[in-house]
Amino acid sequence: MATAHFRFYEELNDFLPPARRKVEFSVHFSRCPSVKDMIESLGVPHPEIELILVNGQSVDFSYQLRDTDRVSIYPVFESLDITPLIRLREWPLRNPRFVVDCNLGRLARYLRLLGFDCVYRNDFQDADVARIADQQQRIVLTRDRRLLQRKIITHGLFIREVLPRRQVPEVLTRMDLRRLVSPFSRCTHCNALLEPVDKVDIEHRLEPKTRRYFSEFLQCPDCRRIYWKGSHHGRAQHLIDELQSAEWAFPE
Ligand SMILES: [Zn+2]
Repeated sequence: MATAHFRFYEELNDFLPPARRKVEFSVHFSRCPSVKDMIESLGVPHPEIELILVNGQSVDFSYQLRDTDRVSIYPVFESLDITPLIRLREWPLRNPRFVVDCNLGRLARYLRLLGFDCVYRNDFQDADVARIADQQQRIVLTRDRRLLQRKIITHGLFIREVLPRRQVPEVLTRMDLRRLVSPFSRCTHCNALLEPVDKVDIEHRLEPKTRRYFSEFLQCPDCRRIYWKGSHHGRAQHLIDELQSAEWAFPE
């Protein structure tokens, strides 16, 4: 029987039982499991991982464990540049395109409101989410740890927060996305990019007050919904400000 020693860092500890958090612990094994299989059998989904060091050397998921190995596992550090150290994935996480699990509809709509590309449908099955993530190179957002353990998913975030208004700052903070926020650029209903539209073409569809006070409009090319930047105290603007400015940190 061989033994390897594991230490998980930062928020990856959330997936471990209390006795294994933030300490080194030993795991016995026979044959030679891959480091990926071993990590997932310990309960940590692989898309949450950015860097694995074995005896101080960076390895990929296929590395086969050997007796006495010391394994350190680090989470996705979006705000730190560790690219020289790693090669776990084919494409970078910097391109924030998402596919959102079926029970996180509000999160998808809020992220679209901030301009992020989110594929979402409330009838998605796990297999749909996994296939779209793979084919379109999208990052999976889910609260289902088992979904993230599917092999073809390479990028994903396990969302900790339960409330949608807290989930948005969680995603923005963990992926360092605040600089990419671009409100009123995407349809919150169908994810399409909005296009400018002349007021004369849509005037007949506006409420009298909107017609009187606003001059610049955008339209969704798919569902034809009309958008305009409301006054600063408008409801949408207020929500955008709240979502964008709320701070978030991993619970201690
Ligand atoms: Zn639309």
